[in-house]
Amino acid sequence: MNLELSEEQEAVRRLAEDFVAREVAPHAVAWDRAEEVDRAIVKKLGAVGFLGLTVPEEYGGSGGDHLAYCLVTEELGRGDSSVRGIVSVSLGLVAKTVAAWGTEEQKREWLPRLASGEALGCFGLTEPGTGSDAGNLVTRAVRDGDDYRISGTKMFITNGTWAEVVLLFARTNDTPGHKGVSAFLVPTDTPGLTRRAIHGKLGLRGQATAELVLEDVRVPAAAMLGPEGKGFSIAMSALAKGRMSVAAGCVGIAQAALDAAVRYAGEREQFGRPIASYQLVQELISDIAVDVDAARLLTWRVADLIDRGLDFATAASKAKLYASEAAVRAANNALQVFGGYGYIDEYPVGKLLRDARVMTLYEGTSQIQKLIIGRALTGVSAF
Ligand SMILES: Cc1cc2nc3c(=O)[nH]c(=O)nc-3n(C[C@H](O)[C@H](O)[C@H](O)COP(=O)(O)OP(=O)(O)OC[C@H]3O[C@@H](n4cnc5c(N)ncnc54)[C@H](O)[C@@H]3O)c2cc1C
Repeated sequence: MNLELSEEQEAVRRLAEDFVAREVAPHAVAWDRAEEVDRAIVKKLGAVGFLGLTVPEEYGGSGGDHLAYCLVTEELGRGDSSVRGIVSVSLGLVAKTVAAWGTEEQKREWLPRLASGEALGCFGLTEPGTGSDAGNLVTRAVRDGDDYRISGTKMFITNGTWAEVVLLFARTNDTPGHKGVSAFLVPTDTPGLTRRAIHGKLGLRGQATAELVLEDVRVPAAAMLGPEGKGFSIAMSALAKGRMSVAAGCVGIAQAALDAAVRYAGEREQFGRPIASYQLVQELISDIAVDVDAARLLTWRVADLIDRGLDFATAASKAKLYASEAAVRAANNALQVFGGYGYIDEYPVGKLLRDARVMTLYEGTSQIQKLIIGRALTGVSAF
């Protein structure tokens, strides 16, 4: 793997850096306090091509490889994880899955709109009773002539109140476990679908997280994505790639923590000297720096494997596991460097820690990543 960025990749990285400096960073604290990112950011992300990365240009995408996608995701995560999550879900979990599994008609209907930001996607897998155990979801889709009628509840859905389409997973037959699950593309304005915003999150406060309730929601059979009964495999393939983008976002958080800690340690004086001159403060900073490098290298390796068409799922779990735990450690170490000032939101590190905390929980908790890695190594499934 070549660790030197190509001219194209470096240009995309710089574009993302400029975008974040102009459109994201100046508003991040206000959006966090208001518990709402300005929705205008979606169109801006689309206009600059970030919602169509890796999607073929014939469907309105902006092309690019997965390393370029990681670079953009890292920069967005450095600026505001709430904005990064909009892209990771609408592009990473929904548009990429439509591109991989959709019929020609589904791709023509959704990809140009998702890539431009005219429409946003959300990913409806988790339910109140099934999080880690997603294969046992209970939302039902019952065939009725040329349609399916879907009923159930989806929990913690990122982009939920904003999205125009939900990639929804529902049980289409009575086979227990994941074999009875199918995937559907459901427009969120379909009668019977209601959304409730979830407030009071510890972090990612600017992000639109929602509960979706479906009561006899009728969709045509053509709304099914991929073959009947393959929904769980589709969800898992989406999440495997999604884990790379969560990991890249975590690298962004850790990098932001490092930048803030180094800057503050040089400015803040105690006992007549900058705190950067104390070895115990340098230890905190060097621990963050090692975490940044290690998390980034694990993440780039996933992008490299995907771009070379190789198996990447276990590498993605390793990257997500390490980078999410590293982001929490890095933000916590940075907060320590800031002392009491780190505890108030005029300084950036408290938000970094709050935003980082969910990364070890969603798209598979750290425990679930360990079980996936353990299964790959031993050949024995623990769940
Ligand atoms: C802000 C936010 C955004 C989210 N966005 C989305 C989204 O867009 N779409 C979506 O579908 N979901 C989303 N989720 C849901 C998320 O993926 C789940 O919360 C996650 O999968 C964990 O499920 P759970 O919360 O039900 O926890 P549980 O599965 O109940 O887990 C509780 C604890 O038990 C542990 N545990 C469970 N099973 C095992 C086991 N076999 N071995 C060892 N330990 C185990 C877990 O690691 C965890 O520590 C989001 C969640 C949050 C908080």
